[in-house]
Amino acid sequence: MPRLDDGGRMREAVAEVEKIYRELDSRPVERHCTGLGDCCRFRLTGETPYLTRGEALVAARAWKATGRRDLPVRPNGDCPMLSGLGRCLIYNARPMGCRTHFCDAAGGPLPRRDVIDWIRRLEALDARLGGDGPRRIGPALEDALNAKA
Ligand code: SF4
Repeated sequence: MPRLDDGGRMREAVAEVEKIYRELDSRPVERHCTGLGDCCRFRLTGETPYLTRGEALVAARAWKATGRRDLPVRPNGDCPMLSGLGRCLIYNARPMGCRTHFCDAAGGPLPRRDVIDWIRRLEALDARLGGDGPRRIGPALEDALNAKA
């Protein structure tokens, strides 16, 4: 089983996840996110994104590219990637859940059946990386930030 600290495997995984995101983004959807950031306030929504290992690696790489290393603690329950101005600091690398779970004002979440193929690819990649399924964004990112690339 490939290990998370296998640099070659990790780079391949990052490329595969970015390909999935590009495919997803290139598909037209009738949703209109206005960047309110409400979906990034987990205490408000009662929901937290879950990330596969590949997604976490991509998010961690984008986080490091901002010049940051550690994840901030958000006592208010906001996503650690949310800036004080209410913007995602890793927007282009945001996970699958953030790309598909639109708030009601934006048109609502995409039906799972419409994105299931991409989800399955991310889960298959997770298994190849030795993961055991999607995990909450905080712990998933902590592990990815600590992984050797
Ligand atoms: S990763 Fe970005 S888009 Fe997703 S919940 Fe966090 S701040 Fe919001």
